Amino acid sequence: MNRTFLTTTAIAAAAIIAMILYPPLPASSHLNDFTASNAGPQPDHWAALPVQWNLNPARGGNIQGSRSVADVIQASFNTWTGAPNTALSAVRAADSSATAAGFNTTNLICFVCNGDFSSEAETLAVTITTTATSVGDSDGRGGTTQFVGQILDADLLFNPNKNFTTDIGGANQDMQTVATHEIGHFFGLDHSAIVRAIMFPFTPETANTTLSYDDVGAISATYPKGSPDVATGVISGAVRLSGSPVFGAHVFADSQTTAQSFSGFNVRKSPIGAMSLPDGTYSITGVPADSYLVTAEPLDLPVTNDDVSDFPKAFNKTAVQTNFNTRSH
Ligand SMILES: [Zn+2]
Repeated sequence: MNRTFLTTTAIAAAAIIAMILYPPLPASSHLNDFTASNAGPQPDHWAALPVQWNLNPARGGNIQGSRSVADVIQASFNTWTGAPNTALSAVRAADSSATAAGFNTTNLICFVCNGDFSSEAETLAVTITTTATSVGDSDGRGGTTQFVGQILDADLLFNPNKNFTTDIGGANQDMQTVATHEIGHFFGLDHSAIVRAIMFPFTPETANTTLSYDDVGAISATYPKGSPDVATGVISGAVRLSGSPVFGAHVFADSQTTAQSFSGFNVRKSPIGAMSLPDGTYSITGVPADSYLVTAEPLDLPVTNDDVSDFPKAFNKTAVQTNFNTRSH
């Protein structure tokens, strides 16, 4: 298993808030990137739909395959926007010739940008998002910021020194697998510790271009559909160790049946996870009716604190807690 994905979150305006309270989070507790605010961490997401993306269609000799990069990227966006229970939408806007990421009016998808890959040679791709840290500032597009955590700009750069194929099942790294993962970051999602999730931070051995239940839970909590395609509920509780709350436990609900809850959608059944908050509580959202085993485990490999480092930072913590054993109930 190679560490091959990376996301970087850049903050639009430097603002460090020393006093942080911990109110209940407004949306899902799991899987989002967060921006800190004096009202507590806010889940990152776009304010308006559809979200536009701008392709630089140039490709180097590191990219093989018969499909165009435009087809691969469009298919990857479609995987997210076509998921059940989400109102998410995206549109391809004008192409760009830009060769560097930047906080501007384009959300660049680039295959010939060098980025900071010189220092992160193993990284296949990086998604750089800029989020608002306060309300009423310039949003860089002629308007003002509406909420903390509002994504203002996102740029997805593929490492031009890595070999990709646009043909699913080709010999090199499957581009659509990487693009689908990175576009999850583009929409504001953080990594998931669910091994079969598209947001799992390590590349799978074989192409993986469909969402799991865990990914659907994350994207539908972030961009909910007014009338959901499939009814879902919430599993909530608290993780405690000798009576003290455990922060950053990975809690996941695993179905004990073979039921396929999202029939009609190309979604893979997987556990659905969440992270416990500083008071130990967790809330696993987007859970279809079924029978579940709920397990709390420390985030201590294969996914570790480094893969979700924005999460403890948003709560003014240095790391998630891992000094406990896996428990089920
Ligand atoms: Zn990633």
